[in-house]
Amino acid sequence: MGNICPRLWEYLKPCLPCFVREAGKPVAPEVTTENAESPCPPEAPRPRGCYFVALFDYQARTAEDLSFHAGDKLQVLDTSPEGWWFARHLETRAAGSGQRLEGYIPSNYVAEDRSLQAEPWFFGAIKRADAEKQLLYSGNQTGAFLIRESESEKGGFALSVLVEGVVKHYKIRRLDEGEFCLTRRRTFITLSEFVSHYTKISDGLCVKLGKPCLKVQVPAPFDLSYKTVDQWEIDRNSVQLLKRLGSGQFGEVWEGLWNNTTPVAVKTLKPGSMDPNDFLREAQIMKSLRHPKLIQLYAVCTLEDPIYIITELMRHGSLLEYLQNDAGSKIHLTQQVDMAAQVASGMAYLESQNYIHRDLAARNVLVGEHNIYKVADFGLARVFKVDNEDIYELKHEVKLPVKWTAPEAIRTKKFSIKSDVWSFGVLLYEIITYGKMPYSGMTGAQVIQKLSQNYRLPQPPNCPPQFYSIMLQCWSAEPRERPTFEALCCELEDYFETDSSYSDANNWVK
Ligand code: AMP
Repeated sequence: MGNICPRLWEYLKPCLPCFVREAGKPVAPEVTTENAESPCPPEAPRPRGCYFVALFDYQARTAEDLSFHAGDKLQVLDTSPEGWWFARHLETRAAGSGQRLEGYIPSNYVAEDRSLQAEPWFFGAIKRADAEKQLLYSGNQTGAFLIRESESEKGGFALSVLVEGVVKHYKIRRLDEGEFCLTRRRTFITLSEFVSHYTKISDGLCVKLGKPCLKVQVPAPFDLSYKTVDQWEIDRNSVQLLKRLGSGQFGEVWEGLWNNTTPVAVKTLKPGSMDPNDFLREAQIMKSLRHPKLIQLYAVCTLEDPIYIITELMRHGSLLEYLQNDAGSKIHLTQQVDMAAQVASGMAYLESQNYIHRDLAARNVLVGEHNIYKVADFGLARVFKVDNEDIYELKHEVKLPVKWTAPEAIRTKKFSIKSDVWSFGVLLYEIITYGKMPYSGMTGAQVIQKLSQNYRLPQPPNCPPQFYSIMLQCWSAEPRERPTFEALCCELEDYFETDSSYSDANNWVK
């Protein structure tokens, strides 16, 4: 068992003497059948820190990890390797079921016991619009609620409640003494007391609080298992290819099952489509990029052909097909803006990591359940030896998706995050036109020529001026004048809130 990271050690210190010190370094105790029962006396109040609560269900994927249900209590004993903690299950029902009691858990599935983050109704720093989206999912009934950090007031909180299909928002005031309240008439020391009170009576709220909003957006662990954090060249026999999902110019994509437990996507590459060494160099970086709006690279099989790239599986496939199949029947502006905002958020992370995508387009965005959109295939454009395909054109031996590529990147073959911003503008065009081919009827060469004469894609018929203005910003001839992804993300997230009567700052139920 490895050493405990300093941050966790700070949490664990109150648990002493549950832990022993060895050679001056903090180490977790070996858990044996003798001490497994109760490292801290059960009647004593549990110290905060060494105990965690599961936020979501997790099904063990290997013999070394631990299954648990949302709400289960876990004692964390070790935090190496990163992202996977070694924990002990404290639930008696697990003990009785013959299930493992110790093993690795994904650290993003748990929160410190008795912390605000562990409360089923606490949703952290989500936006007002996102709170509405989550509360309006089917499954939530009148009275469903969540508490979130206020967007408009640092350190403040907001209560969002579903009433007869409409979401109402209340500002939770913080008094000088630190108490929480809706009105001074009734104050509470903690948010739990606040919730407990309004669950019993409505006391001025539009409705008595019912069940916490369902947490349907379960995060994907960042690795297949704790072992593949470091050893992510895996045995190809551990992956079963179940169903072909599609084929691209570089090979096929399959739905697969890793270790007989875990659904994954497997990209099988045509032999010769890339140099394995170039790929491995790039994959090393791709593996380290972690963001909820980026497709997570889990593992690779590069020792034989075909190379396998194993990633997170997205149930609804590519955004391009998703848009084209819908063509406006169910997808409307709110969802289109949400898609754009989610992609911008993933790209803002790449921007913060100084990483360039090089092939941002609707075909390289994937759609998951519950309206989740993630950026895929970042970095791959650099290592592919591109074959002939309509959207790619030969230019000085480099083939580019011309209609998505910024003019200066076509000219100089130099890509930057600002050339990604240009491509993002074209992606916005695809989103708003339900996947129409940009510059339809024009060849790549014509596009290059027209762009140099300041021509830009015209405003599509159903595209609001506000949305088109974002596209035009992305297509500034001067790269420096294009917005950052961070700014784009803010602009898109606040798209419907520029009307001040809507924003968190002004629009509260009194
Ligand atoms: P590509 O070769 O990346 O263009 O992928 C071909 C097709 O496979 C895409 O259009 C998607 O429909 C599907 N696909 C690719 N990656 C995934 C994934 N991670 N999850 C689900 N489907 C995928």
